[in-house]
Amino acid sequence: MNGAVRRILLLYSNTGGGHRASAEALRQEILSRNPHYHVILEDILLQRTFWPLSESDRFYFWSVSKAPWFWKALYRSVARKEVYATLHKTLGTIIGPRLRHVYERVRPDLVVSLHPLLNHLPRRVLRRWEERTHRPYTPFVTVITDLTTFHPAWVDPDVDAITVATEEARAGVLRLGAPAAKVHLLGLPLRAAFRNLPTHRQGVRARLGLDPTRRTVLVMGGGQGMGPVENIVQELAFRCHSIQLVVIVGRNRALQERLALRKWSIPVHVLGFVENVHEWMVASDVLVTKAGPGTLAEAMVCGVPVLLYGHIPGQEEGNVAFVLNHRLGEYETDPRRMATILSSWFAREEDVLEPMRRRSRSLAHTDATERIVDLLLEVMAAARARSSTRVPQRSLNLHRRLK
Ligand code: UDP
Repeated sequence: MNGAVRRILLLYSNTGGGHRASAEALRQEILSRNPHYHVILEDILLQRTFWPLSESDRFYFWSVSKAPWFWKALYRSVARKEVYATLHKTLGTIIGPRLRHVYERVRPDLVVSLHPLLNHLPRRVLRRWEERTHRPYTPFVTVITDLTTFHPAWVDPDVDAITVATEEARAGVLRLGAPAAKVHLLGLPLRAAFRNLPTHRQGVRARLGLDPTRRTVLVMGGGQGMGPVENIVQELAFRCHSIQLVVIVGRNRALQERLALRKWSIPVHVLGFVENVHEWMVASDVLVTKAGPGTLAEAMVCGVPVLLYGHIPGQEEGNVAFVLNHRLGEYETDPRRMATILSSWFAREEDVLEPMRRRSRSLAHTDATERIVDLLLEVMAAARARSSTRVPQRSLNLHRRLK
């Protein structure tokens, strides 16, 4: 452990739970190694702006769940260079001064971005702020929190390092012009609980109050319980008589209440937002989910085959191809056919489900959080070492004046 205090600024935004969850995982890991460091999470878009930017989380949830066509069109249009340039300029006017204020307050030794809209702009503002205040060089790292496909706004070739979760994402980042030496394939940062998983499935079921002997299907819809979860639960309960269902609806209270009020012919356990997703995944034979990056990365670590029922257009599109190409599960939108697929999987456990579990675990990055933090600390130490061997600009000027 190094005795010097360091300040690490993590830029994220709560548009989709994944950015914050990844930032929290990094913070925990950094502080577990260096309890005296300051790790500051900053949601500059939602917490330091005004309407409509300050409501972009609500707008995001509304558009991805109620008007995915609109989200798709918006996502694609912002990927066009001229539209992104205009957005960048507008954002610069609004959040540029706020970023300077944050840099002034935090005086970071390292800045990490965990959001697509917080790369080019914060990095440029940082460089200008350093110049103006004669601060030493502060490294800037991007941690991409999508799994395979991601918005081009994530990639600023001038940052010091970029971490990605899959080979597919690495290829995408290189295509967008990032130098290969800066791109690190380390996985998605996951909560510490995913590192020490219980191994005995039946034992975990018993502990969670489930029937240890029944096949268990976990149904999830991301942090917000998105998608046709109700229809899926209804069809599976009607057609798969020998299973038990666990339904985690996250923050979707209305759905939780509706499902909890119904009478089911098989055991159905309905849960709201839970902190122990890792245990429910280990307890399950199969996970039925939308193609969310966080959920999929966690399912791989737990070795659970997945049956995907949908995806958010744009950033989750490539995740479906990822699951199919690596044969980690299947994609099916019709709840009746989903029931048929599950029955066929259970009828061929050894030939179908076991190989999926093995392939999942072989692609998982169990130690992603530790390795990303290793990289962050290395990048920060290297920048300090470089700046301490360099003669500061101010002393050079003084030296010139004295001559
Ligand atoms: N999650 C959780 N508790 C819940 C429901 C979901 O901790 O009750 C977590 C889940 O484990 C995953 C994240 O929320 O880490 C969802 O992220 P994902 O990228 O899959 O989807 P998003 O909600 O961001 O669209």
